[in-house]
Amino acid sequence: MEQFNLYIDGKAVPAASGRTYESEDPYTGKPWAQVADGAAEDVDQAVAAARAALSGPWGALTPPERGELLRKLAALITRDAERLAELEVRDGGKLMREMSGQAKGLSAWYTYYAGLVDKLQGEVIPTGKPNYLVYTRHEPVGVVAAITPWNSPLLLLTWKLAPALAAGCTIVVKPSDYTPTSTVALAELITEAGFPPGVFNVITGWGPETGKALSSHPGVDRVAFTGSTETGRAVAHAAADNITSVSLELGGKSAQVVFADADLDAAANGLIAGVFAAAGQTCLAGSRLLVEESVAEALVEKVVERANQIVIGDPRAAGTEMGPLANDRQYAKVLEHFKAAREQGVTIACGGEAVSELGGYFVRPTVLTNLPADARAITEEIFGPVLAVSTFSSEDEAVSLANGTPYGLAGSVWTKDVHRAHRVAARLRAGTVWVNAYRAVAPEVPFGGMGLSGIGRENGADAILDYTETKAVWVELSGETRDPFTLG
Ligand code: NAD
Repeated sequence: MEQFNLYIDGKAVPAASGRTYESEDPYTGKPWAQVADGAAEDVDQAVAAARAALSGPWGALTPPERGELLRKLAALITRDAERLAELEVRDGGKLMREMSGQAKGLSAWYTYYAGLVDKLQGEVIPTGKPNYLVYTRHEPVGVVAAITPWNSPLLLLTWKLAPALAAGCTIVVKPSDYTPTSTVALAELITEAGFPPGVFNVITGWGPETGKALSSHPGVDRVAFTGSTETGRAVAHAAADNITSVSLELGGKSAQVVFADADLDAAANGLIAGVFAAAGQTCLAGSRLLVEESVAEALVEKVVERANQIVIGDPRAAGTEMGPLANDRQYAKVLEHFKAAREQGVTIACGGEAVSELGGYFVRPTVLTNLPADARAITEEIFGPVLAVSTFSSEDEAVSLANGTPYGLAGSVWTKDVHRAHRVAARLRAGTVWVNAYRAVAPEVPFGGMGLSGIGRENGADAILDYTETKAVWVELSGETRDPFTLG
């Protein structure tokens, strides 16, 4: 089995307790890697190393020097993209073709934020007080705690890491217990790129202990979390006790709204991409289809036909379209939803069962119709390949159904009517809306959720500001004394 240690202060080290745990390959159901099982004492060390690096050589670098290191890192990630993808496939069971594409695409984030380091400029503020020169500085917020989920470990870490490094912060990462190995491998590349020790630290560990220790650590200045709404709430509570700022990228129940005038073949393809790619294990999954009544039957038929052809199997094989679910917990959760659908009298248009002949954690792509409004498949995030179909007869009804959950991460509008496209895009309560498309992201474009889908936006030029504190500097110009008992 491959061995993976913690990474603290530029070095791979075992957990202080000496404990390890095994990471399982969800395709074979067998352990393949031995991983350090960190604890609160390791988190303390990592936070101390990150704190020391801020006032050490890292803090002394100029912004262009930081940008240079980010560009070197981008090149190393591209060099090792296949290895990083392989680790993610082994830990998480996602398709090699998807993870390889993701790993190759990561460099775009590091080069984008490398281009922003020297544009992080303050401003001179023209106040009504002529005896003062006032300007602002954007200073690094300090030590950032990043806590990430299992579905796209390096991509979702990169959304935090690239702007945080560009801003001059240091980082302690707690990757998901299920998918820790690619983050440890990234640490080696960060050292190879020439980042000083302590800038990037990784604490792996089984169970919630390390995540809890990190999110509640008084030495952390900002917490950047991606994961479930339930854990996000716990993280926000922990951070609040220390008055630490947080960003939360959480779950979703995103709606794809298809009007009768849409290109139904394109919409069917977008629905497949939205909910069956990555076996539905993405926060932005388009897990609800809202379709205008007159075309509902035709569209569902197209989606079911394609869903039944999806090639399920070895995530490493080039022709595979859907791999296994990422872990036993997720597998049990999806099977439980199939059971609930049956109990609620929902029609299972396709799927609704495990693929028992393959072993591993495989389930069939599933389309559910005739759902009551309170069906669990409509109200709860499943995080699996399950599409819940509802129909509407007017634009107002479509918008009201789309906005009818407490989530607000993403959504789409399928129509050829340009007026309606923009009108409905504006009315959807979601951080991202695609028009006649689904499942596209880019470093330049803000991403994040409303409501229970989270707080804050990652990506885009403003994200770098989230990793800074703004300081106002007042310079007295007259040299005169003033009345000390009035506000200046
Ligand atoms: P999770 O909430 O179970 O775990 C996320 C991370 O938090 C893991 O590293 C976990 O070990 C850690 N953790 C667990 N308990 C903790 C605690 N009490 N305190 C601090 N950290 C703790 O989520 P998951 O199952 O790994 O990922 C799936 C979820 O993530 C889904 O709900 C999905 O929608 C969401 N997600 C959101 C986005 C987004 O950008 N909005 C992206 C991907 C995934």
